[in-house]
Amino acid sequence: MSIDKIREAIRDVPDFPKPGILFKDITPALQDPDRLREISDLFYERYKDLNIDKVACIDARGFIFGGLIATRLGAGLVTVRKAGKLPYDVIEESYELEYGSATLAIHVDAIKKGERVVILDDLLATGGTAAATIQLVETLGGDIVELGFLVELGFLEGRKRLGNSPVWAPIVY
Ligand code: AMP
Repeated sequence: MSIDKIREAIRDVPDFPKPGILFKDITPALQDPDRLREISDLFYERYKDLNIDKVACIDARGFIFGGLIATRLGAGLVTVRKAGKLPYDVIEESYELEYGSATLAIHVDAIKKGERVVILDDLLATGGTAAATIQLVETLGGDIVELGFLVELGFLEGRKRLGNSPVWAPIVY
């Protein structure tokens, strides 16, 4: 199956979650077993030979991708969560949204110094969420191999906020 087949199944939902946002809904792609398998294969092929220790996935749709591929990579799974959700000691990072701000958190023992980490989420938009995640992983001493997204909204230029960290996204709008 080609990447175009996955792309065809991503649905545009206008004005969600608020007016003016064109939401890229990946659920039709996930609902189809062949496409789901292809998505898993794409990420697996990309990272299988890179000695990944931890897959750090971002609340909430990033968890889907983390769960799909961490076991295939033989890597551990780390959840980067919205503030107030993780039960143990955390470090937090706040970032600006279009209106107001948000905070992400990670458990202090989630990543050990020098571990090789790939960060996963469903979609890169303005890059604020990913930039905060980079900060958290680097604070714990993780070595970021790459940030992987199924979809990138290239026109928002989120990559520019991610410094030197490599970014990969097979589907770009
Ligand atoms: P950002 O911090 O702007 O890069 O936003 C990234 C996060 O918001 C990701 O976790 C996405 O799931 C979600 N997101 C932002 N914009 C969209 C969009 N247009 N369609 C779907 N998800 C989006």
